Amino acid sequence: FPTVTVLDLPFVKTTAAALLPVLQQRISDRQNTFVVTANPEIAMYAHEHADYRDLLLSADFITPDGVGILDGAKILKQPLPERITGFDTLQALLAWGSDHHRSAYFLGAKPAVIAQLKPILARDYPGLVIAGIRDGYFQDAAPIVADIEAQQPDMVFAALGFPKQEQFIHQHRHVTKGLWMGVGGSFDVLAG
Ligand code: UDP
Repeated sequence: FPTVTVLDLPFVKTTAAALLPVLQQRISDRQNTFVVTANPEIAMYAHEHADYRDLLLSADFITPDGVGILDGAKILKQPLPERITGFDTLQALLAWGSDHHRSAYFLGAKPAVIAQLKPILARDYPGLVIAGIRDGYFQDAAPIVADIEAQQPDMVFAALGFPKQEQFIHQHRHVTKGLWMGVGGSFDVLAG
């Protein structure tokens, strides 16, 4: 996809309807993929922290998750077509994963949220294979990364908040040949 640079980040100039099949194809092809859905908060933080920005630049796709990013692109006279949010992308990938019996690993949120999330995922996405589901309040990442590597999930969703989730993904994404995406507070929302 062509990109438009806002606050030093190259955002994909596309729609969710066009991006999703590309992500699904990469998952089917076992192509390692890092998706960042950057809201204005993330973009501002990246603008002020060069190390975080460099890490985001290693992503395969950066999408505009907020009207603030669209406004920035418009001011530059290079408009982006629409918001592509982390939550919508997560839901779309879970629905597709359920239809195609794909596997997903859920990492993040509080233990009580995870306990609520499990039956909701089983109910709403019956065909989805839950490769792992664990809270985001761990001391040692090593056993978690080893588990992700052993499970080889098609998709890993990290709900650790930024910048932690992108740092985690950048550091560990190559243990699978699947898709990795930071989803912020999405597990809290899904759990209701
Ligand atoms: N979180 C976590 N581990 C941490 C810090 C945060 O799992 O060490 C979770 C937190 O429980 C919440 C999510 O990360 O589910 C962060 O949500 P928030 O909406 O603050 O993230 P943002 O969208 O701002 O990145």
